Amino acid sequence: MHKGSCLCGAVKYEVRGDLGPIVLCHCSRCRKANGSAFASNAPVARKDLVVVDGAESLKSFRTAAGVHRMFCQNCGSPIFSWRESHPEMARIRIGTLDTPVPGKPTAHIFVGSKAEWDQICDDLPQHEGMP
Ligand SMILES: [Zn+2]
Ligand SMILES: [Zn+2]
Repeated sequence: MHKGSCLCGAVKYEVRGDLGPIVLCHCSRCRKANGSAFASNAPVARKDLVVVDGAESLKSFRTAAGVHRMFCQNCGSPIFSWRESHPEMARIRIGTLDTPVPGKPTAHIFVGSKAEWDQICDDLPQHEGMP
């Protein structure tokens, strides 16, 4: 069981299952949504992801590609995203977890659109787009 919350604490969620492999996504959408060089995401089964508090504060920004980026409307924390083409999966933003995260990042993705000021300083596999 993993537990997480947003910056203001309004939204609390649990992952009642396993986290998938952690990937660091450098795509321009993740950079905008996080205001940083990349997003740290892990896939989980949507059925395992339970918003236990503050569901009314969780808003969706739907992109043209049919991706719903779920964030706290009070503090702006990105919490997870899900795709209309794969509604059974969600990608949580692991920086919002409060419980220890097992495992380490496994790969960089969308390095083809990474910020020019960003420097990748590890030996993880790098993928131009989505592997
Ligand atoms: Zn919040
Ligand atoms: Zn991304």
